[in-house]
Amino acid sequence: MTEDFIGMRYPTTCYNCGKMADQEIAASSSRAEVVCSNCGATRIFVPRFEDPAEPGEFTPVECYDVWDLLTDATCKNCHVTGPHRLIIGCRNFSTHCENCEYTHFFRFDVEYIPERDGPSDIR
Ligand SMILES: [Zn+2]
Ligand SMILES: [Zn+2]
Repeated sequence: MTEDFIGMRYPTTCYNCGKMADQEIAASSSRAEVVCSNCGATRIFVPRFEDPAEPGEFTPVECYDVWDLLTDATCKNCHVTGPHRLIIGCRNFSTHCENCEYTHFFRFDVEYIPERDGPSDIR
């Protein structure tokens, strides 16, 4: 079990419910997720180890604007608590330490969206 080193909320228009709602963003070294606080739509990202600069790796298919955020976190690498940059798109999620430049890359893995009327069956 790894503890989250990134935890923040970002209010924006949800791609699923279309409402302005806090998107709860959490990341640990083994996984990252974004959850809509209004509808519960969840996106899970898993670590990616390939070279992120590989040509063709980034497809221009993003379902909304890429978020470019700053939050304070304690770096896993330099152990300094300070600003980390988060870049979050539909398919990519990265965290970047502004102190030592250490970067975690994640790729989109799964999404689940709770049924609006049925039982919320979240695996
Ligand atoms: Zn939503
Ligand atoms: Zn660092």
